[in-house]
Amino acid sequence: MNIFVVNCGSSSIKYQLFDMADESVRAKGVVERVGSDEALLTHTVGGQKHTRTIVARNHTEGMKYILALLVEPGIGVLASTDEIDAVGHRVVHGGKQMSRTCLIDQGVIDIIRENFVLGPLHNPPNLMGIEAAMTVMPGTPNVAVFDTAFLATLPPKAYRYAVPAEWYTRHHVRRYGFHGTSHRYVSVQTAALLGKPVEQLNVITAHLGNGCSMTAIANGQAVDHSMGMTPLEGLVMGTRSGDIDPAVVFYMTSVGLPPGEVDKALNKSSGLLGLSEFSNDMRDLLTAVEGGNEKARLAVECFVYRIVKYIGAYSTILPSLDAVVFTGGIGENSTPVRGMVVEGLSRLGAKLDVQRNDATLRGVCGPITTPDSALPVWVVPTNEELMIARDTETIVKAL
Ligand code: AMP
Repeated sequence: MNIFVVNCGSSSIKYQLFDMADESVRAKGVVERVGSDEALLTHTVGGQKHTRTIVARNHTEGMKYILALLVEPGIGVLASTDEIDAVGHRVVHGGKQMSRTCLIDQGVIDIIRENFVLGPLHNPPNLMGIEAAMTVMPGTPNVAVFDTAFLATLPPKAYRYAVPAEWYTRHHVRRYGFHGTSHRYVSVQTAALLGKPVEQLNVITAHLGNGCSMTAIANGQAVDHSMGMTPLEGLVMGTRSGDIDPAVVFYMTSVGLPPGEVDKALNKSSGLLGLSEFSNDMRDLLTAVEGGNEKARLAVECFVYRIVKYIGAYSTILPSLDAVVFTGGIGENSTPVRGMVVEGLSRLGAKLDVQRNDATLRGVCGPITTPDSALPVWVVPTNEELMIARDTETIVKAL
């Protein structure tokens, strides 16, 4: 089966074409600056990158161009776009209604639209991508894979905030969580690596990228998660604050910062960037720490401390703990950050294996603790697109 995976942002279309026979990627790419006459397309096939400036005044035009490229003589990988068996779409917010991957019909489209209010930045472009695929590939099944779906198993004690109940019943204020497809992929891979059925897996997965989130997984199901009603809650992130006292918001408005500016500051200029005052990129910060930059040192310390604190909390709510698992740009690549976190977990019995930690980089998967470590810590590279492709294949095969 050929599965076309699409992830649409407000001005971008990311795509990958999978051959599910061996789960290989036949072609992949991104169109940036969608909405303009000078959109930038980067298309990779057979390890070779092709860049073009194209007209993509909307997502449908961008999608049409991508499909033409997939069959273009010379760089095409398909004889006809009819060879695409299904399209899998990343959809960020499924709200309360969507707890699993599903075939897209009018009812699903209505639910995605209803949840614009909860995912205002992501759901509208996700839906544009769905409508574009339906226009340019009529008759091809479309499947929605929701970021929130894996977190639908959180119990009320984990997803409810202790605020007036009416905020929940009338305004849907609760924890939804994000990065669910990544946490699910990583948990499935970890179960296979540990040789356990996923239904018996008890792990803490930490997705550490520019956005950071953590999930407590008991018997294969998410039971707690660090992001909240929006992706602002929880860990220290590249530019987001993570947890703060909500009264800080009112205090800052009382000293003259307009509410919109407070919102922007907490999302765009807080986290590692806010603390260091120069970068949200962990690589820059670690280099600066070596050069003696104290603000960078504090930023990295806060980042690591919050992760260790969350792992401590989650370890107490799980029936047992098979492993802590790192993924995401920092989790997969940053040897120093992982080392500091593992040192912080010594009370839980984690023992860092320096050589393994140094060797586990750039897509490599494996443990970074010693064989006798009471708490194993693993690195498992994430692959949300492959998870979407697998889900899409499962749905389409059952049709
Ligand atoms: P992601 O959002 O998963 O793509 O992760 C992006 C973040 O990963 C960047 O902002 C970097 O801070 C971090 N990152 C990527 N590679 C490295 C590396 N080799 N060392 C440290 N951090 C890295």
